[in-house]
Amino acid sequence: LPSEFQKALPILTTIVEAGYEAYFVGGSVRDMLLGKAIHDVDIATSAYPSEIKALFEKTVDTGIEHGTVMVLDHGAGYEITTFRTESGYTDYRRPDEVIFVRDLREDLKRRDFTINALAMNKTGEIIDLFDGLLDLDKKVIKAVGNPSERFHEDALRMMRAIRFSAQLDFVIEDKTLLAINKEAPLLEKIAIERINVEFTKMLMGQAAAKGLFAFTKTGLYKYLPNINIERELDLVAAGLALKHKQLMTPAVAWTFLIVQLGLDDKRAKLFLKQWKHGNDLINMVTSANHFIRLYKRQTMVTNWDLYQLGNNVAIVNAVLAVIMEDFDENELNKRYDMLTIKTKRELAITGAALIKSGVVKPGPLMGKILLQLEQAVVAKTLDNNAAKLLAQAQVIVEGESK
Ligand code: ATP
Ligand code: MG
Repeated sequence: LPSEFQKALPILTTIVEAGYEAYFVGGSVRDMLLGKAIHDVDIATSAYPSEIKALFEKTVDTGIEHGTVMVLDHGAGYEITTFRTESGYTDYRRPDEVIFVRDLREDLKRRDFTINALAMNKTGEIIDLFDGLLDLDKKVIKAVGNPSERFHEDALRMMRAIRFSAQLDFVIEDKTLLAINKEAPLLEKIAIERINVEFTKMLMGQAAAKGLFAFTKTGLYKYLPNINIERELDLVAAGLALKHKQLMTPAVAWTFLIVQLGLDDKRAKLFLKQWKHGNDLINMVTSANHFIRLYKRQTMVTNWDLYQLGNNVAIVNAVLAVIMEDFDENELNKRYDMLTIKTKRELAITGAALIKSGVVKPGPLMGKILLQLEQAVVAKTLDNNAAKLLAQAQVIVEGESK
């Protein structure tokens, strides 16, 4: 067993020796069988949360109402979830009630896809009640049970199907794909933040092009935030541009998408806000998108353009490498490294120094002067030297007073 499981084995043993069942379940089992890196090891058990808490010294109630207790062991935390069934789903996204059960089958049955419904006991034996092993082998994403019913229970599963297909480079099984097509409008019930999480993972997948094509093929794209029917061709073009290339970070992924959609600064910002992105990502992506639009239009970008781009040059490089034939990634990096200053803080004079020298009083003129000095230093028409900057500030003040 991989070390991630080895480390958690004493926990399984403790539960089993107390007379309950306990298994590794979900993504970790799937990823181990695929030979992929394992993130978090999830454990499912027949013991009730109170019974788990009685067995271990340090536990945290991370999701006790859903049956999840976190056990702390040698600095690591393990989520242990009681076998459960779900029923109700009147709102298409959350079960009305969670019922704890003692039977593993009931728990595996409520999971989304066959490859996610595998369990493994402490001796490494795989429990495969829904032919998940076969589907892993065939590289297929297939809903457990009736796909339409499963998407009615939780419409996010349609996003997850496409996300896993992009991450693993798997195909979506016919009936599951057909059900996405049929049930696509249910996606409107799902919170944008949750759609965003799945869509971002899809874009960053090794087979993101496959994911994008699945969105257009099923029509699910029409129910994504702020993406209407006129965007179908843009998404197909995005898939074609990507081919087998991978978008390695969320900022790179979203910049790529925004460039493909051809959004200007204002529209890009609005679009990202509507997708409920955080300010950090919005700032990075809009800055990179602004630069790429300039670059595509005129190729000759100025030092000032690069200076304003700042660290986001890495995002621009990654996106241009995807969308442009024989793009030289070193070109922009070299020019960026050669900038005289990278930030305002590196300017050899400060506002306070300007005031102290008596050249200017605090106020709007001072900001204007500092900006002009900054631009001149970046453009290399002025040395970044305190005396020279002060002299130039004097010239600007005199010009203003005429
Ligand atoms: P990842 O590598 O992205 O974490 P994962 O398979 O572990 O993949 P999680 O979202 O962490 O995905 O969920 C853990 C497990 O819980 C899944 O493998 C699946 O069995 C089950 N699961 C998660 N979300 C759903 C859902 N919406 N409907 C049904 N089962 C789900
Ligand atoms: Mg997981």
